[in-house]
Amino acid sequence: MNKIIYFDNNATTRVSPEVKEAMDLFLTELYGNPSSIHQFGGQVKKHLEAARSQVAGLLGCQPEEIIFTSCGTESDSTAIYSALNAYPEKKHIVTTSVEHPAIYNLCRYLEKQGYRVTYLKVDEEGRLNLEELEKAIGPETAIVSIMWANNETGVVMPVEKAAEIAHKKGVLFHTDAVQAASKIPINLAGSQIDMLSISGHKLHAPKGIGVLYVRQGTKFVPFLRGGHQENGQRAGTENVPGIIGLGKASELALNNLEKEQSYVGSLRDRLEKGLLNRIPNIKINGARAPRLPNTLSVSFEFVEGESILLLLSDYGICASTGSACSSGSLEPSHVLQAMKIPFTFAHGTVRFSLSIYNTEEEVDYVLEVLPGIIKKLRDISPFSPANSAH
Ligand code: PLP
Repeated sequence: MNKIIYFDNNATTRVSPEVKEAMDLFLTELYGNPSSIHQFGGQVKKHLEAARSQVAGLLGCQPEEIIFTSCGTESDSTAIYSALNAYPEKKHIVTTSVEHPAIYNLCRYLEKQGYRVTYLKVDEEGRLNLEELEKAIGPETAIVSIMWANNETGVVMPVEKAAEIAHKKGVLFHTDAVQAASKIPINLAGSQIDMLSISGHKLHAPKGIGVLYVRQGTKFVPFLRGGHQENGQRAGTENVPGIIGLGKASELALNNLEKEQSYVGSLRDRLEKGLLNRIPNIKINGARAPRLPNTLSVSFEFVEGESILLLLSDYGICASTGSACSSGSLEPSHVLQAMKIPFTFAHGTVRFSLSIYNTEEEVDYVLEVLPGIIKKLRDISPFSPANSAH
């Protein structure tokens, strides 16, 4: 097998060596249950609380405001259901048309359960209109949930301003920061955000660990009921190795924030400029909006994203596409549809998402092989004007 060139970090990340090392002890020797009364359990509990402080450090909040969950999806669901259960008389949710399925599909489901959902539109760059947000919030609104950064395009939303607008109207504000955390600074103490979700496996911690931040004083109703773990806010024996790993990963992420902007940002820009210079008829999605430094969503006209990915994969290059295979047809994702990316471009969308572990050589390798792949696919594409019957 070729050497893997991994440009799919918005899907998941490698566990960093320091994180693995920190976790090892908790998979072998320190395996006690943090709820146990004996000193073996107590020792684990101390480490768990230290990890909570490390996560709080990354998010700029208090350790007591951190609830450990199993993943970003659980954190998102917990936030939405908490608001709906805390304010049962309110039956309206405001969110966006570009959320991750963890929020988007949950809202679609809740609509079937009798809730009303407003999906705020975005413009062709993936940007939100805050005046529309203000208009959408009413006395019936239980919660506003807006992602901090989009997983497909990397477009960053003005969530701090959005939280202020929600608060002005007396409504709770949640943000899905699964893609934002570790890539851009987050300071919850200086914001009006009430709840925020993150996920370990997007920031070089393992899969199966997430966090929901809940601002002190926020009315909160648990999602999982049972034991008294997490201060009675999330039942279930803690994933101690995962929590330790996420703590370490948070500490590293905080130290690497500057590198994320400068180093990862420059790699992404090199890839973007290189593609624009080498391949005609392409479109960078969200290029005029504020974006995460690591994400590049690029649409190649007249070809299919899946075909590009398969050919890239032959060279060991891992990326993602912007369409979902549903009922045999390749539909562009709801995000690209919401941005009204023209049909001939949307189908050929590929997402490259980088990390601090990528190198300039890897970027240059993609720039070397991708133009040939696109040419080959365009030569045989029935959509390509050169090949059409007209
Ligand atoms: N929210 C966003 C923006 C994501 O990108 C993802 C994962 O891709 C999730 C939520 C879900 O996170 P998890 O895989 O931890 O459930």
